[in-house]
Amino acid sequence: MIQLHDPACADLARHFLGAEAEAQTVAELASRIQSEIESWFRYEGPGLSHDEKAAQGRRCSCRGFDDYCVCQNVPDATTMAERKEATRCAP
Ligand SMILES: [Zn+2]
Repeated sequence: MIQLHDPACADLARHFLGAEAEAQTVAELASRIQSEIESWFRYEGPGLSHDEKAAQGRRCSCRGFDDYCVCQNVPDATTMAERKEATRCAP
């Protein structure tokens, strides 16, 4: 089942696969690219814990002092990786 994808993702897929790639293969890669990119920007999980905010503040140029900074509101890649690691180790 191939999802509808953004033309920009199809262009990227074609770029990676080359001109002679089959349309089906291009469509499959385009869908994967799009879902990967969308997952970067979509966040529906729990908010940040106090510790996570503090850790992200240390990694950010605002040093955690700006409540409106993205570091104090949305989990960054490191926090996401740590959460994933934590759930993997859970019994
Ligand atoms: Zn910040």
